[in-house]
Amino acid sequence: MQAHRNGTPMLASSGYVAKVDQTRCVVCGTCAKYCQFEAVTFINGVKEIDAEKCLGCGVCIPKCTKKALTLERDTSRGIPLELDELMAEAEEGL
Ligand code: SF4
Ligand code: SF4
Repeated sequence: MQAHRNGTPMLASSGYVAKVDQTRCVVCGTCAKYCQFEAVTFINGVKEIDAEKCLGCGVCIPKCTKKALTLERDTSRGIPLELDELMAEAEEGL
């Protein structure tokens, strides 16, 4: 993770990106403390997600008590693994 933060791409996007609902966000900064990728920034008192840095890990989502954060699909970032489907296929093959 340290190498990734220092500019060496070591981790892949989940295929999602975090979005903030500005009408709910109270700019408390809690989500920024939990983001390991420094993707949360505050510009003129408004919270923004840097889509280039956000890997869609989802860690910040449950930390927001105002329910201002959601994960949205970003089709430019590849196809996410559908674990439920993969597990079902694996069970059928047994
Ligand atoms: S935790 Fe929620 S309310 Fe606080 S800055 Fe982040 S998005 Fe806004
Ligand atoms: S989804 Fe992950 S990478 Fe994106 S802003 Fe939230 S904690 Fe940071």
